[in-house]
Amino acid sequence: MSTVIIRKASYDYKALRPVVFEILNSTCGDMVREKKRVIIKPNLLAAATPDKAIVTHPMIIKAAAEYVLEKGAVPQISDSPAVGSFHKILKESGITDALAGLNVIYKEFRESAVIDVGEPFRKIDIAGDAVNCDVLINLAKLKTHTQMMLTLGVKNLFGCIVGMKKPEWHFRTGVDREKFAALLVKNFQAIKPSVTIIDGILAMEGEGPGRSGTPRELGVILGSNDAVAADITVCRMIGVEPDMLLTNRFARKAGLSDGEIIIDGDLPAIRDFRLPEITPLVFGPKRFHGYFRRHLVQRPVCNDSECRLCGECWKYCPAKAISPAKKKIRFDYDKCIRCYCCAEVCPHGALGARETFTGRIARRVMGMR
Ligand code: SF4
Ligand code: SF4
Repeated sequence: MSTVIIRKASYDYKALRPVVFEILNSTCGDMVREKKRVIIKPNLLAAATPDKAIVTHPMIIKAAAEYVLEKGAVPQISDSPAVGSFHKILKESGITDALAGLNVIYKEFRESAVIDVGEPFRKIDIAGDAVNCDVLINLAKLKTHTQMMLTLGVKNLFGCIVGMKKPEWHFRTGVDREKFAALLVKNFQAIKPSVTIIDGILAMEGEGPGRSGTPRELGVILGSNDAVAADITVCRMIGVEPDMLLTNRFARKAGLSDGEIIIDGDLPAIRDFRLPEITPLVFGPKRFHGYFRRHLVQRPVCNDSECRLCGECWKYCPAKAISPAKKKIRFDYDKCIRCYCCAEVCPHGALGARETFTGRIARRVMGMR
C-alpha cells in the first residue's frame, strides 16, 4: 500500500516552499545527503511561460533544488526535450531566472545506458544519469495528452529517453497505445524515481500536452514514492476511472499496484475536467483495421493560419508522414500512426487532432460511444 500526499497550493513561493519540503522530507528525506547524486527531472516539453501550463512550474523546481542544497547535495536539473534547445527552454520558461544564484548543475540528458527491461522490448536506451543517480526527483505536470489521455508521473519519465530515440519508440509501438503504455511502465521501472511530485496547481485540460491544451487552475500538488499511486490518485481526483489511463492498467496487470492508496490530505473532487477526444485507433472487424485507421480514426490537422512552416513537426514525426507543400504542410494519413507527437512539438499551437465525420458516424453505428 502506498501513500500519496496531497496539499492545496499556489505558486506563491513563501507558501509553496514548505509544502514541497514536507513532501520531499516524507518521501526521500533520508536519501538526499552530501555526495549523493541527485537528479531533478521536470517536464520541459517546450519553451513556454508558466501561464501556459506546459512545463513544471519554476517555483516547484526551485523549491526542490533548495531542498537538495539544504541537505548538502548538489542538484542536477536534467531532461531531454522533444524539440528545441534545453537551455533555451530553461531560460524562456523562467527556470534559469527562478534558480539564479543557486548552486545547481544544468545538464541535458544526452548519453544513454542500455537497459534490459524484459519482454517484449528487451533493451532500451535510457539516460545514463537517470538510471545511475542516487536519487531521482520526478517533477511532473498534470496535463492532458492527446495520445495517452493524461501525462502524469509515469509518462514524465519518457523524457529520460534521449533525443530522437523517443520518436523511434513511438514508431516501434505504432498505433498500439497499450504497447506504448507498457513501454512507459517498463521505462519507469528501470528508472525507479525516489519521489514523484505532480504539479496540479495550474494544470492543463483539453488537447494537451502542448500549446493546443488549455490551462486550468486546480490548486493542488501531489507527491508520493510511488508514481503509479500518484497517477491513480490524480485520475480519481478528476473523475477518471484509473484503468482508463493505460499506464495504470498495465502497472496493475504487472503487479505494481493494487490500487490501495492511503491519502494524506484532502482529495478534492474536480468536476468537468476536459479530457482530449480519444478514439480507438483500431476497431471493428480485424480485416478492416487498416482501412478504418486511414479513413475513420481521429487524425492530426493543421490550422494553416497559425502554421509558420517552422519544420519542427516534420523533423520530429516518427512516421515521416508530414511534408511541406507550398504554403502549408501536408499529412500522409496512410503513413501516420496517430501518435500526435506533431501537435505536442508544434511551437505555435497550429496542430490538433480531429475526428473525421465518417469516423464519428461509423463508431455510433457500431455502438462504440
Ligand atoms: S504545424 Fe507547427 S510545427 Fe509544423 S510547420 Fe507549422 S508551425 Fe511548425
Ligand atoms: S503526422 Fe503527427 S500523428 Fe501522424 S505519425 Fe506524424 S507525428 Fe504522429
